[in-house]
Amino acid sequence: MILRYDRIAMELPPPSEPDPAGAAAVQELLGGRFGEMSTFLNYTFQSFNFRGRQGARPFYDLVANIAAEEFGHVELVATAINTMLTGASPTANGRPSVDATKSPLADVKGVGNPQHFLAGGQAALPQDSNGRPWSGDYVFSSGDLVEDLTHNFFLETGARNNKLKVYEMVEHPAARALTGYLLVRGGVHQIAYARAIEKLTGADLKKMFPTPRIATDKIPECKPHIERGDHLRLYRFSLEDFQELPAVFNGPNPETGEDLVVFEQAPEGVPPRDLPPQPAVFAPDYAPEEISEIATKLRQQAGLPKEPTGLVADLKEATKRSTKTATSRSKARSRK
Ligand code: MN
Ligand code: MN
Repeated sequence: MILRYDRIAMELPPPSEPDPAGAAAVQELLGGRFGEMSTFLNYTFQSFNFRGRQGARPFYDLVANIAAEEFGHVELVATAINTMLTGASPTANGRPSVDATKSPLADVKGVGNPQHFLAGGQAALPQDSNGRPWSGDYVFSSGDLVEDLTHNFFLETGARNNKLKVYEMVEHPAARALTGYLLVRGGVHQIAYARAIEKLTGADLKKMFPTPRIATDKIPECKPHIERGDHLRLYRFSLEDFQELPAVFNGPNPETGEDLVVFEQAPEGVPPRDLPPQPAVFAPDYAPEEISEIATKLRQQAGLPKEPTGLVADLKEATKRSTKTATSRSKARSRK
């Protein structure tokens, strides 16, 4: 079972200049062969299918626990994509809704992934950077522990490769912050699987780091996470279970020589931003304020407080900025 927290793994920058083409590239990190859906579902199926787990407990705990962290990475990549798409069509915060007869989506025709707008509400899809759907064929779960762990090391290596290339391709601040964080966390998983293979077989995988051969601390967006010690920590994503992680996850970080540590709780995370409605794609509606009025009535009828109870990061300034960008873009178009 999974317990869900309404928080995301790290703070991403607020929406700024929208970047639909960049958002399409970032999809590779979500639904590509080496994306977060693949890491999440590879480790998830391997943990479901783990036979003789009690006798192999430290290894089972490792795979099951990293699977849980990957769920949060899927969420984080989706959030970065949604941030980059915010404001790509005109928004209507605090103003009358956009006019569907004035072609509000004309600006994004031929830019990025059309399905972000046509199939989705300017939001992430379970697809790669070419718009191909994520496939269950990306899941490898042979049941052979050495083989699965070797595959997982390779998967994290491919994931690191893709993150570095997306970093090289996309300059949007949300994409940069995302890749900086995921490079550090994926690096920890790469080490964790290498340590597991070493403990099980005696092979010396330390010599393979870093793969690809770029030092993690060379990427500026990795530095705050390295300074916090996140390049050394494996978090335990459970209140009481998965106690045997330290039996495998120990020794030096092969890049820095510092000691690896198991952190006995999940990372704190941050409240997600409430990304503004995008009425041109009817998300959450052509007239979002009506839904808001209905929700307020329902909340009061249920005896809940008048104001929403969930916690979101403050977005007032960012909403204003993205609204202004979209407004100036639509004004520029109407002058043509
Ligand atoms: Mn990940
Ligand atoms: Mn990973």
